Amino acid sequence: MKIILLGAPGSGKGTLAKQISKDFSIPQISTGDLFRKFAKEDSQLGRSLNEYMSSGKLVPDSLTCQILKTRIEGKDCRNGFILDGFPRTIAQAQALEKITNIDTIILVDLDFKIIIDRLSKRRTCPECGEIYNISSYSNKSCAKCGAELIQRDDDKPETIKNRLEVYEEKTSPLINFYSDRLFKVSSAGSPEETYRPVKTFLEAMEIVNE
Ligand code: AMP
Repeated sequence: MKIILLGAPGSGKGTLAKQISKDFSIPQISTGDLFRKFAKEDSQLGRSLNEYMSSGKLVPDSLTCQILKTRIEGKDCRNGFILDGFPRTIAQAQALEKITNIDTIILVDLDFKIIIDRLSKRRTCPECGEIYNISSYSNKSCAKCGAELIQRDDDKPETIKNRLEVYEEKTSPLINFYSDRLFKVSSAGSPEETYRPVKTFLEAMEIVNE
């Protein structure tokens, strides 16, 4: 099954992707995670990715599509994958259509006010990528791998505002682009509440496609 998770930064796509990945045994592919990995390298590419990300700007389409294409050609993607954070522009969606067929697009919907609150309280494990919210997790280290948690540069207030503006301008037109095959879910409740209808929908889709 090939799935796109569409939604603003901080809407809960990553958390939802992890649950789907576990239950349906398909990898979560986050372009943001891929870029953060490259950005750690002391290279021209690493420095330039850091600049885009820390200011909340999008990485250029050509580079993004090339990295994504290489990733989904991986052996572990043979039975499908979940795209988390890609596509983010109409040009990326059009490029994706030339590479592969997508089965379903899930729109994760959340009010911007809640997003701003969640993102500013988000802490991330720089080693394993696990995500925490300081209102429910006060520990300074990761429960999974023990690394010290950080606040991502782009989760700081000035950058959050930019990222949401970029989402409005560049990514939200994708809702129209995919309007004929969109499954919409609200992520205002708990992760379990968000996942429940998605799981039912994906299980039904699996049966239909068998
Ligand atoms: P994320 O972790 O998905 O919020 O992504 C973090 C940052 O990586 C974004 O703010 C962008 O700078 C960059 N990025 C991630 N995915 C894409 C994409 N599909 N197109 C362009 N830039 C991206």
